[in-house]
Amino acid sequence: MSIQQPNKIFFCNYWVTYRCNSKCEFCKIWRDTNLQSLSDAKVSEVKINLHDLKKMGVKIIDFTGGEPLLNRDLPQILSYAKKLGFFIKLSTNGLIYPERSQELKDLPNRIYFSLDTINQNEYKKIRGVEGFDKLLESIGIAKKLGQEICLLYTVTDENIKNIENIVNFCQKNKTTIYIHPCFSYFDNKELNKKNISIIKKFFWKPYVRMSLPQLEFHYRGGNEPQNPSCRVGISTIDISPDNCLTIPCFHKNVKKVKINGDLYSIYNSSEWNELFKMAGRYDFCKNCTIDCYFGLSYSDRLLQYFFKQNLSYFKNFIEERRRK
Ligand code: SF4
Ligand code: SF4
Repeated sequence: MSIQQPNKIFFCNYWVTYRCNSKCEFCKIWRDTNLQSLSDAKVSEVKINLHDLKKMGVKIIDFTGGEPLLNRDLPQILSYAKKLGFFIKLSTNGLIYPERSQELKDLPNRIYFSLDTINQNEYKKIRGVEGFDKLLESIGIAKKLGQEICLLYTVTDENIKNIENIVNFCQKNKTTIYIHPCFSYFDNKELNKKNISIIKKFFWKPYVRMSLPQLEFHYRGGNEPQNPSCRVGISTIDISPDNCLTIPCFHKNVKKVKINGDLYSIYNSSEWNELFKMAGRYDFCKNCTIDCYFGLSYSDRLLQYFFKQNLSYFKNFIEERRRK
């Protein structure tokens, strides 16, 4: 019997640890004793998977967590991924970046630092730990090192009041910010639809990035299980620190499949379609808006990439001239 070749996977969320040094009020990762008991991703296993991800067509890997910088072997992992030619994204809260910045220099293509307030007290309330000064220090160091960075502002109904201040802060510091709506996972509330229009008002501001198709998708109510837009298993996958595929996705994990060095074989077997056939179709997938799993089509992505790139240069150019 011939096996149907799966689509090329484009994006991988690689969870290199679930440990975290923050205690964000909206997050359960640091509270979940099962997740916290897992060891960090091992270099030997990651290397094998990276080769397989390459064969599967993956172009972009987001190394994430927990706090990925807590994995001591992260520089080795990123350096191997870089050698294989992946576009490397690194998502961090920035708390220990000042200590590790030299080891990580020139490895990620882009680092995302989370920023949802520019008020120290509010930072502590949201993140559960002191750290705002460290975050600012991290941003400064990364910029000095010539590292491409992007701040990541996850908008909630509570912190949307900060949008103007945050955008001003980014313009003043000439730092790009990606604004995206909070999605519902772990019992937290997703952004109220009426706040989407507030976000959109900032679209033309210099240094601001956002995905209009994504905002529209959120506004329209997200995924429909009868006609799913979810790309899990089609263009996106998750790999956990204990070297498993989390099925269908990290946020709603119903099954784990141990990889054991066989990622490419699993991908090429009939098991793959079986594992992911329900992605986007489960009851819990109704209205899902978890943005990393709703990639646009390849041509839309290209169009949006060029549109956003050109627009970004244009917006930043105008801003620079205005400030002279
Ligand atoms: S930094 Fe990320 S993983 Fe850590 S507690 Fe906050 S949201 Fe969760
Ligand atoms: S629709 Fe959402 S919850 Fe369902 S598989 Fe996709 S990302 Fe996961």
